[in-house]
Amino acid sequence: AKSAGGNRFELADPEADARAITRHGLTTALPAALERGEFFIEYQPLVHLGDGGVRGAEALVRWLHPQHGVLGPDRFIPLAEHTGLIVPLGRWVLEQAVDQARQWRERSGDTDPVRINVNLSPCQLTHPGLVQDTVDILERAGVEPRVLCLEVTESALIGADDDLLKPLRRLAEMGVDIALDDFGTGYSNLANLRRLPVSVLKLDRSFTQGMQQFPADPVDLKIVEGIVSLAHSLDLAVTVEGVETGAQAEQLRLLGCDTAQGWYYARPGPPDRLHELALVDAAG
Ligand code: C2E
Ligand code: CA
Ligand code: CA
Ligand code: CA
Repeated sequence: AKSAGGNRFELADPEADARAITRHGLTTALPAALERGEFFIEYQPLVHLGDGGVRGAEALVRWLHPQHGVLGPDRFIPLAEHTGLIVPLGRWVLEQAVDQARQWRERSGDTDPVRINVNLSPCQLTHPGLVQDTVDILERAGVEPRVLCLEVTESALIGADDDLLKPLRRLAEMGVDIALDDFGTGYSNLANLRRLPVSVLKLDRSFTQGMQQFPADPVDLKIVEGIVSLAHSLDLAVTVEGVETGAQAEQLRLLGCDTAQGWYYARPGPPDRLHELALVDAAG
């Protein structure tokens, strides 16, 4: 605001003020929002590039804020990480997603269960309850560990020491898949991959964007080709995210990527939609 008299001005950026208030307001509203059940989850299918079948879904959290409407995770996950609320929020997401996997399986009979991917923030990784909470949640729902895939960003594991990797190793030994999310965005020490208990690389969206033209930029092609062959030689599956067009899907399939996710197949949506997609898929 302008100060009263004289030629002194207090520089103010009303938008920055609004943002700060919202940030602060959102941060303090988070715990009650969790208690009141204002969060919900959308699911986005993971599609096998070879046969087009739905193999699983990623759980993506949203906040139905009473004043601001639906807020995406980029608006509140960083705040929840900052205050530590991400631990109970993340546990809630895991609970919901695992229970959803149970429901899908019950409705689809004994066909291969739709697998469920859940994002883990770095704070959850260092929280001592992670392994036990995960075991409890799976057992309570009667869901096998192999149905679950936990996604951890590459940057969270850069320079990870054994203490950080231990819980992930235990989960991996139980049969839970660990995916390295946003792969290729950090500095990628590819040799480091061998010591990480991961079984899936999720290639960052930026690579998919490089496949927009047909044929794609030859350098992009070479890079993805290299990553895929390295991943496969280490027995890792490659998932690509952000696939928006058929041309991208086709090029990524030709490059040997295993699974894809993106608007080309489906936007994130309510759980029933995914069930329908999977059923249509099973029928033909
Ligand atoms: P992410 O894990 O990389 O998730 C993929 C994001 O890409 C999602 O954004 C998804 O909606 C979006 N997306 C999917 N297909 C396309 C496409 O074809 N084109 C484009 N442009 N985007 C696509 P969303 O839902 O806004 O989530 C953003 C990030 O928030 C996620 O990135 C993840 O890091 C984080 N997040 C979401 N849910 C959770 C959660 O439960 N826990 C934690 N810790 N983080 C979460
Ligand atoms: Ca993810
Ligand atoms: Ca990602
Ligand atoms: Ca991301």
